[in-house]
Amino acid sequence: MTDRSKTFPIIEIFGPVIQGEGAMIGHQTHFVRLGGCDYRCAWCDTMYAVIPEEVRSNSVPMTAREIVERLQELNPDTPWVTLSGGNPALHHLDTLIDMLTEAGFKAAVETQGSIYRPWLERCSLVTVSPKPPSSGMNQDLSTLTRFLDLPGINLKVVVFDEADLAFARDVHARYPEVPFYLQIGNDLERDDRDSLLEKLDWLSSKALNDPVLSQAIVLPQLHVLLYGNRRGV
Ligand code: SF4
Repeated sequence: MTDRSKTFPIIEIFGPVIQGEGAMIGHQTHFVRLGGCDYRCAWCDTMYAVIPEEVRSNSVPMTAREIVERLQELNPDTPWVTLSGGNPALHHLDTLIDMLTEAGFKAAVETQGSIYRPWLERCSLVTVSPKPPSSGMNQDLSTLTRFLDLPGINLKVVVFDEADLAFARDVHARYPEVPFYLQIGNDLERDDRDSLLEKLDWLSSKALNDPVLSQAIVLPQLHVLLYGNRRGV
């Protein structure tokens, strides 16, 4: 039996906004950011949703019903709700997914693929984003296999340098049938619009000249190009 009084650490709920990256780029979506992550990526841009002390001070405990009610207040006509983090797969979101569906929302999830949950099978889009060497994490690619049969599965790798690109090639070569996105890495301290466009040019050229990556989709973080490195966009 599901416990509808259970709460989740919610860092932020906002929207609708234009999704700036990955398979849903350009789509209107709400965002629900859950606190907690089993990784500590060197370039994480959401550490406020990762470090336990920060999660404790930045989050509000909300039930699934309260989350859905907040989304309905924001805009019930925007169909997509993107569940992000941190790693949302740390949490048991079965009730939330059911309630989102009952309310007419479609769930999209972003996770690094370290933890599998059955509720992922009821999401309309699952973006698995294994972390490349520049993250400092030692990503175990064998955990990804479990995700491959999910409806709406896609893979996304962030690329900062040549080592990341080699990792991305490896991931795509292992699972060539899964839609595959390459995203330029964004250094919050150093990057601005011009440097990000240069990186996009570099990454596009690499993909265009590499037969292994001939079906990869190369994307910027659209929201960063439009608004800079800001929260809530
Ligand atoms: S997996 Fe994502 S949320 Fe977690 S530390 Fe890495 S970049 Fe941050």
